[in-house]
Amino acid sequence: MKLVVLPGDGIGPETMAVTVEVLKAVSEKFSLGLSLDHDVAGHESLKKYGATVTPELLAKVQAADGMMLGPMSTYEFKDESRGEINPSKFFRKSLDLFANIRPARTYTGLPVRLGEFDLVVVRENTEGFYADRNMESGGSEMLVTPDVVVSLRRITRLCCERIARSAFELAMTRKKHVTIVHKANVLRIADGMFIDICHQVGREFPEVTIDDFIVDAMMAHVVRAPARFDVIVTTNMFGDILSDLTAELSGSLGLGGSINAGAQHAMGQAAHGSAPDIAGQNIANPFSLILSAGMLMSWFGQRKALPAFVRAHAVMEQVLADCIAAHECTRDVGGKLGTRETGVAFLKRLDQYPA
Ligand code: NAD
Repeated sequence: MKLVVLPGDGIGPETMAVTVEVLKAVSEKFSLGLSLDHDVAGHESLKKYGATVTPELLAKVQAADGMMLGPMSTYEFKDESRGEINPSKFFRKSLDLFANIRPARTYTGLPVRLGEFDLVVVRENTEGFYADRNMESGGSEMLVTPDVVVSLRRITRLCCERIARSAFELAMTRKKHVTIVHKANVLRIADGMFIDICHQVGREFPEVTIDDFIVDAMMAHVVRAPARFDVIVTTNMFGDILSDLTAELSGSLGLGGSINAGAQHAMGQAAHGSAPDIAGQNIANPFSLILSAGMLMSWFGQRKALPAFVRAHAVMEQVLADCIAAHECTRDVGGKLGTRETGVAFLKRLDQYPA
């Protein structure tokens, strides 16, 4: 498996350094034959090549089997004409990574504030309220007069169908329940279509039960009783917001692992941002990126029918849970270790597992 590794901004380099060590150890233990191709994106690429991402990097990623993208300081990239391109958008759009899969669960050893839960947010990734990926060319936010702005939200049948199918397929491997999250009381046409299509796709999966919630009420329901949810399918921005909430409910945003998957490509990426408030202090939690790397292993293993990759993911998740239970982790999840020391503890425990 050829992986392109891009450390990113802020806490990206320190958390990716730990993740790379984990990937190397996992590759050796499970004989995965991983080859890692290190490159840059974000601020480092802007300095070096005059753009946060380049066509050469895209070509390299297209030829690889997957990529790991560190968190990016997206908010600082304001002007595409000066090379300040949002790398997340760039890869999601260029590689058509339409499904952002963001699991969240509770762990033994962490205070359980709202009862145990284990759910996955399946977020559409290529349209919706995201002005930077809705149009063939240009953005979908317009300054009509100096005091009037129009931001457009795009919802298409194709994107609804494929994200719904991803959610139902995932539900078949879990508790067979899908919750549709929408705002069809206001966005009647767009979210009305989203709900209808989810139900249409759902008819292909008669074993899966379905319910739906309006997004604002959903925030209350997920805080009140997260255990009632299994797979949650929703449009882009609702999924972005909801999945930060579910990651934090699980203990910390630093546990928010995710992959962005399309028909041909996938990208492991933590759900959180570059966390400038804690960057460079060796206190960031590397588990979100390690979880993302594990999910990428599983994605590849399932695609290529290579069970060793799927097993590697399962062991990575177990080792991570063991670390948390033993408080061998960063302070956001109740430990006292630094980022690097958490990586060392993880590798020690990994060593004890049979391949
Ligand atoms: P953030 O997600 O970076 O941080 C929010 C809070 O969570 C902060 O208190 C931070 O310290 C904490 N946190 C995040 N990751 C953590 C980790 N691994 N361990 C411990 N604590 C962690 O959100 P923000 O501060 O609003 O955004 C910072 C930058 O990141 C902005 O430029 C934003 O645009 C960008 N961003 C990028 C992505 C991405 O690359 N996918 C996602 C969200 C935000």
